[in-house]
Parts: sequence; C-alpha cells; structure tokens
Amino acid sequence: MTASTIWPPRTDAAQLEDLVLTVTRSGDDRKLRSVHAPYSDEEIGSVPDCTGEDVELAISRARNAQEEWAARDVSERATILTRYHDMVLSRQDELLDVMQLESGKARRDALEEVLDVANNARHYATRAEGYLADEKRKGGFPVLTKARQHRHPVGVVGVISPWNYPLTLAVSDAIPALLAGNSVVLKPAEETPFTALLAVKLLREAGVPPNVFQVVTGSGKELGPPLIDNVDFVQFTGSTKTGRRVAKRAGKNLVPSSLELGGKNPMVVFDDADLKWAVDGAIRGCFTNAGQLCLSFERLYAQSGIYEQFRDELVNRTRSLHLAASYDHDPEVGSLMGKQQLARVRTHVDDAVEKGAKLLTGGRHRPDLGPYFYEPTILEGVTDEMLVAHEETFGPVVTLRSFRSDEEAISLANDSEYGLNAAVWTGDTDRGHDVARKIECGTVNLNDPYTAAWGSVDAPMGGMKQSGLGRRHGDEGFLKYTQTQTVAEQRFHPIAPPRRVPMRLYAKGMSAILKLMRRIPGLR
Ligand code: NAD
Repeated sequence: MTASTIWPPRTDAAQLEDLVLTVTRSGDDRKLRSVHAPYSDEEIGSVPDCTGEDVELAISRARNAQEEWAARDVSERATILTRYHDMVLSRQDELLDVMQLESGKARRDALEEVLDVANNARHYATRAEGYLADEKRKGGFPVLTKARQHRHPVGVVGVISPWNYPLTLAVSDAIPALLAGNSVVLKPAEETPFTALLAVKLLREAGVPPNVFQVVTGSGKELGPPLIDNVDFVQFTGSTKTGRRVAKRAGKNLVPSSLELGGKNPMVVFDDADLKWAVDGAIRGCFTNAGQLCLSFERLYAQSGIYEQFRDELVNRTRSLHLAASYDHDPEVGSLMGKQQLARVRTHVDDAVEKGAKLLTGGRHRPDLGPYFYEPTILEGVTDEMLVAHEETFGPVVTLRSFRSDEEAISLANDSEYGLNAAVWTGDTDRGHDVARKIECGTVNLNDPYTAAWGSVDAPMGGMKQSGLGRRHGDEGFLKYTQTQTVAEQRFHPIAPPRRVPMRLYAKGMSAILKLMRRIPGLR
C-alpha cells in the first residue's frame, strides 16, 4: 500500500478533524499532537495535546453531569447502551476503517474489537438492573435488626487505555461503569485517539449525554496524574511498568483502581491433543494482532511425543500466513504499531539468535509490505539469559520447547512473573481441567487460545502475579464501579445492655444467644 492509497474507503482527513470536536478543551490554543498511520508512517491528522487544566475541566463537567445520569432509571441507561450495541454493529465498517488506519492491524483483528464491544454492551445492559437492585441481608440480631444493601455509583471513572486494542479497551470497560450510573473521562493512547473519539461520538449519538462521557487526548505522563488525582476510580490497561505508577498514585489518594497489565503467556499442548486444531489455535494465539495482544502466547510447550510433528506443522502454517497492508478481510497478519514496537521485536529476536537460539521461521523485518511489518517468528532452543525467555515482546514472536510430564508442563507454564492468560490442549477434559487449575493465570482456555475466556463476558478476566489487580467482565467487572451501602434498622430494642442489667449478666446472655445462633442453621 502506498501513501496515496493509505486512506480507507470511508474515512478522510476532514472526518478525523470533525472527531476532534469531541475532545474536552479549556481553550482553543492547545498545541496539537500528530497521529500516524503504521501502514505508511504518513501523518493522518492531529489531536489536541491536552493539559492538566483540560483534565480537571473534563472531570468537573463529568461530576456535575453524573448526578442526573445516576438518577435516571437503570432501564433508561440500558436502552441507550443497547442502542449503542446495535450502532456499533451496523456502523462497523466506519470503526474498522479508523482502527486499521491508526493502528495498522489486520481487518479481522479489528473485527474482534467490534464484536467484543457489542458483546459487553448486550451483556451488561441486560444485567445492570439486577446488579443494582437493593438486597435484603441478614440482620445482626434475629428479629430485632433488619439490614438492606444498596449499591451507589462511585462517581467519575477515569479510563486509561493502550493502543493495541484501541476500541475495545477504550469502551468495553466503560460500558458497565456507565450502566452503574457513573460518568467517564477517557484518556486513550497517544497513538490511537481517533478510534476512541469515533466510539465516543457513537455513544453520544446513542443517547449518552456529552458531559457524561468525555475524552482528553495527549500524553499519559502529563494527563495521567491529574486524572488519577481527581476521579473516584481508575480503570487502567497498559504495561506493568506504567500500571505500578498508576497504582502508587491512586493508592496515595486512596482511590480504587483496576489494573489490566502485561503478560508472557504460555500455551501447553499435550500428546493427546487434536494436533491440527492445536496448530490452528497456536497460530491465532501467537499471531493475532501481529502478537500485540495482551493475551497472546509468547511461550509454546509441546509434549515430547508430538513435539516434532507439532513443530513442523506449526512452522509450515506460519510460513504460509498472509501479511499485507489492506482494508479487506483477507490478510491474516497486519503491521506492528510503530518504530518502538519494531525495535523491541528486533532486539528480542536478534538477542536470542546471537545467544544461540534457533530461528525456525520468520525473524525478518518486511519494509516491502510497510515500514513496521515483521514476519511471524518461531524460536527454538531459548535459554534463560535471553530477553525473549521472560520479557514481554508484544510482537509476533514465540518460543517453542518440549516437555515430558504434566508436572513439568505446569512448572514451565508458571515460570514467569506474569499470570495473565494460558491455554491447554488435550483430548482428555479431566486432565485439562486439572492442569488448568494449577496454572497461575487469571484465565486458562481449554482447546482454545483466548476467545473462549475473553468472549465469556459473564466470567471474570484479569491477571494474577504481575499481570494486574482486579478483574474486568463478570460480576466483578460491574460491581467494582459501585460502592455498597448498608442501611440497618434496629427495632424494639437496641443491641446494648438494658439499663440496670449488670454487664456480667449481659455478657452471659449475649454469649448464650451467639451459641444458639451457631447451633440453629436458620439463624446462622
Ligand atoms: P503503556 O503502559 O505504555 O500505556 C498505556 C496507557 O497509559 C496509555 O494511554 C498511556 O498514555 C498511559 N500512560 C503512560 N504513562 C502514564 C502515567 N504515568 N500515568 C498514567 N497513564 C500513563 O502501555 P502500551 O504500550 O500502550 O500498551 C501495551 C501494554 O499493555 C503491554 O504490556 C500489554 O500487555 C498491555 N495490555 C494489557 C491488557 C490487559 O488486558 N491485561 C490489554 C492490552 C494491553
């Protein structure tokens, strides 16, 4: 693709300029920050380089608007988010074009984002009313005490998102926050602001009031601190290094945060697995989004009995992958995000090869396809002192090695400071479940790379170890945006010693009542 054909069919510079109007600004004199298309490195537009002042303005507007939004019936918010679901699906081509333009990903990878946003919108819009319903709780003292639990929105939620899944990570976590009655201020990645702006434009068209969802664009270093200092909850997705900074700042202010961070994910293939399926799964698991997926596998382990067959079939399939810069659905692998990502991938591969790893396939930059294309790469014979052994590459690079027993596979899979996602391939479901429970990862997929767990939005998802704190999806992905309040009503008599009853007698009486409560199941 040449610079003159870089623009996708439905997008031009004027449309991107129009999207910039959705950015919150305290004045028109802001500096601009340019955005580039990874397919050609061409500048496609620019967005305001917002300041701390802009962030504060966005948060104060969001705070003022939140009360009215929370006072609406939850069914009204659910109707709006259901409309958003429909709009995201019906206008998917617009979204796919902008996503591809500024991230350089393959269209099929961009499609996963559209489907994910719709999946989350439907799921949480359907369940919001149930989550927010008042609940009767057991009172502290039978008959005398009645307790009820209410759920309130936390207030203003700050979302900080990365560039690799610019639609889903900007919006999917915000959907439950909105449904719970919060307002949201989003700080998208510097590289991919236009996808977030288009997603927010659609949210507004669906009926979310402008001040309830606002966007500030610009540097994470500049905008992160004022955002974290002024919101009531921080939803962060990005690297573990930045996540630590965010957690420290949020902790100082006692602001809760949910952190979705990096990974070095393992995939284990047992000798009883359906090999063809496992090879296809490895291809998707390692090279989706050119490996720039937090859930993708950078470590493959195959059991000794099938190791060679698995390796050879995987290498053959990898060599046949279709890489191209194109706005149709055909290419299987797109571009890396940019200079920095390409440099990291090259450093990891070159370091491994220099230190003695065997390059089974790939290992080449492909400027003939676009400035940041890199071939899907498989390395064998990787040892601990190589960067690629433990550091997250975040590119189309995977290491392959064999193992003998289930115990060895578990130990290899757990040999990482990260614990985000894993996959186990076996024909024996019991064995798969047994191994899965012993792998220290927030999600483990059986006979699937990541879509099974990622798409099961009713179940929580997130990182163990250095891969994060908190969860998205499932009940936790909604309830974290609420704070509970207990209202307990005392009737007939206080839980306190009656006047003129000596404390010793009161102590005896209370102890007898507690013993009774312990014995009678209905009172427990
Ligand atoms: P990053 O940490 O560099 O940036 C993420 C976001 O944080 C960006 O919006 C950035 O502007 C902002 N930021 C930067 N400095 C900040 C600061 N001091 N305070 C607050 N915000 C700040 O990550 P990246 O390179 O954009 O994304 C790639 C990383 O994200 C990889 O490590 C990947 O594994 C991880 N990731 C994790 C998940 C997950 O769900 N666990 C999903 C996608 C990506």
